Amino acid sequence: MAKIIAMMNQKGGVGKTTSTINLAACLAVAEKKTLVIDLDPQGNGSISLGLDASHHAEKNIYHAMIGQAPISECIYQTELPFLHICPSDNNLSGAEIELVSLFAREAKLKAAFETIRADYDYILIDCPPSLGLLTVNALNAADTFIVPMQTEYLAMEGLAQLLNTVRLIRTNLNPNLKMDGILLTMFDKRSSLHKQVTSEIRKHFGEKVFKSAIPRNVKLAECPSFGKPIILYDIESKGSEAYLALAKEVILKERMGDLPEVPTTEAAADELPEVPVIEESLNQQHDQLQ
Ligand code: ATP
Ligand code: MG
Repeated sequence: MAKIIAMMNQKGGVGKTTSTINLAACLAVAEKKTLVIDLDPQGNGSISLGLDASHHAEKNIYHAMIGQAPISECIYQTELPFLHICPSDNNLSGAEIELVSLFAREAKLKAAFETIRADYDYILIDCPPSLGLLTVNALNAADTFIVPMQTEYLAMEGLAQLLNTVRLIRTNLNPNLKMDGILLTMFDKRSSLHKQVTSEIRKHFGEKVFKSAIPRNVKLAECPSFGKPIILYDIESKGSEAYLALAKEVILKERMGDLPEVPTTEAAADELPEVPVIEESLNQQHDQLQ
């Protein structure tokens, strides 16, 4: 049965799509049968894997979610033998409105996965930059979620709201939803600000931060325009190295079974004053996530 991972952060441009595509590609070269679900109406993930949904894919995730087609008919092969994609396009923004009136609107993706889950080792969902109905569908269908976070000033802004959404999903829809981890993206080891923000995030989230951090790497920004994941575009780049290491970590983490606890010591919380989050609220959300 596939492990289903949602890549989510309502902040835009933090590396959700880049991380979904490239982690998926690295899992696929490790011969893990992997499916990318592009759940963002922007369709960036589809384009990044060489699929222009509006031209080449007659059916996509939109049709699967509103019940117009079984999801198996909305899945396409990519250049990598073990990597499939269910693309999206602009229509999906309409789905968010169309879904509102449907019964069990928050469980459409989960229901769609039932028939294909056994066919894969991993299903990675690229969420849109919002906490709306599409992201709620992703979190309801997922086993775990990963939060890509840019190591910039205000990185943790909005995190309390994100964790609150997770708590609501756990209480009302998916009690087994777990946090896989925080993924540091676009990291620049020469920047003292990046180092400082990274150490604050690591202090606060401890083991929940992936050891593999993704560096800022121009090759990662270039490869979507060629419709290729980084490992097919430049295997020797720092970006390839980082996402291969992340894939290894994800595979090992799953093998280890239970995810490590989140250490939320008061001391760790005290280290956070420079990052403008509502600390108390954040700590409370965290406790709920244990
Ligand atoms: P959105 O919220 O709009 O969906 P996102 O969170 O999916 O955005 P991406 O599209 O993955 O973010 O990345 C935003 C931009 O940053 C893209 O142009 C991407 O190519 C670039 N980018 C992402 N990660 C890196 C990196 N590690 N190094 C250099 N550029 C990167
Ligand atoms: Mg994106």
